[in-house]
Amino acid sequence: MINTTNSTIQDQLYNERLFAEIAAASAASDYDGGFPAHEFALLRASGLLTITLPGQALCYDKASTPGLLQLLKNIGKSSLPVGRIYEGHINALLLIASFGSQDQKSRWFEDAGANLFGVWNTQDAGGLEIEDTGNGRYRLTGSKTFCSGAGWIGRPLVTGKLISPEKSGWQMCIIPTETVKPILADSSFWKPLGMQASASYRMDLTGIEIGEQDLLGLPDDYYRQPLFGSGALRFAAVQLGGAEAVLEETHRLLNDFKRTEDPFQQSRIAEISYLIETGNLWLNQAGELYDRWLHMPGSAEKLIAYANMTRTIIEDACLRSMQLAERSVGSRGLMRPGILERMHRDLTTYLRQPAPDAIQAYVGKYVLDQQNTTSLWT
Ligand SMILES: Cc1cc2nc3c(=O)[nH]c(=O)nc-3n(C[C@H](O)[C@H](O)[C@H](O)COP(=O)(O)OP(=O)(O)OC[C@H]3O[C@@H](n4cnc5c(N)ncnc54)[C@H](O)[C@@H]3O)c2cc1C
Repeated sequence: MINTTNSTIQDQLYNERLFAEIAAASAASDYDGGFPAHEFALLRASGLLTITLPGQALCYDKASTPGLLQLLKNIGKSSLPVGRIYEGHINALLLIASFGSQDQKSRWFEDAGANLFGVWNTQDAGGLEIEDTGNGRYRLTGSKTFCSGAGWIGRPLVTGKLISPEKSGWQMCIIPTETVKPILADSSFWKPLGMQASASYRMDLTGIEIGEQDLLGLPDDYYRQPLFGSGALRFAAVQLGGAEAVLEETHRLLNDFKRTEDPFQQSRIAEISYLIETGNLWLNQAGELYDRWLHMPGSAEKLIAYANMTRTIIEDACLRSMQLAERSVGSRGLMRPGILERMHRDLTTYLRQPAPDAIQAYVGKYVLDQQNTTSLWT
């Protein structure tokens, strides 16, 4: 059991030794077909796979979102692929906490220490169907894409179109992988610029049969707001961690190159520093507002707009920081196996998240829909 005293929480969120070990291991996982197995063994041993469960340090009903975002950022700084997969695990546990029955919560929370969870929602034209075959049984047909963690995920939460005479909509289910037909992994889908170690393959679930106890929530619960829209804060936190790693490595290289006295270098480092601090200020504020607004009647759209702004600001801060870092260290600093070369590829890839234009437009529409702009975010 994790002790939830303040000092212990701080130790877990800022476990520098653990994060350094993950960072040190991450170069070895960076290849086509790689997966950060050692890094997840470290996370499991540290207790961080269960830190959001009831009674634990960052339990969801404890208004602990700023702490969770700090943790995600710190893991992302060590390794963006590890941050991506860990965020999926945390997201699945949040969805179970929000929509699971008491029985399901007990069963899946019990599994969380030993199994990795993931959320596989993205799909291409084919998509996934969950067909009600009667007597509480369901057959899956089709595949999901960008399935981070692929076959290393023991409890994938997948979404699909429910085909049933009684109900319809977008249904979540959690696959008990050891008791069903194997999910077919297609790694040929995953030839990205970066984030190789996130193992975000296409997964074919055709022929898998599950029971009523494996369905999570009601159809369309997955998109229930503001939970869905505000989830962008978690991946933005991981991304900001990547930018912090870029700053740290640029700082190290400039010292190595003995180029710290140059005013242009000082100016660029200054800009990266305040961009990242801006991201941190947004993230902390957004975490506090999330805890205040999530269950406050009438605050759903405001929370989504605030999360969208945070995500956009952090994306811009990451992109600009990478550009400034490149100019600062030059080609010598971007050589393999240097950290900056990998972080650059990983962050460029991981910054591509769904519908960036639509989320910015949402903010504009939200603001224009208000009577005036005097108290937008109070
Ligand atoms: C490393 C990594 C891991 C991932 N892991 C997972 C995972 O575990 N589970 C999961 O479910 N997903 C995962 N994803 C998928 C991710 O959530 C996004 O769905 C995916 O990255 C889509 O990115 P995109 O740039 O192709 O987005 P798009 O939404 O296609 O955006 C590309 C551009 O097109 C614009 N655009 C979008 N829609 C339209 C439109 N209708 N008309 C005109 N323009 C449009 C956008 O604004 C943007 O400018 C992962 C992605 C990455 C990169």
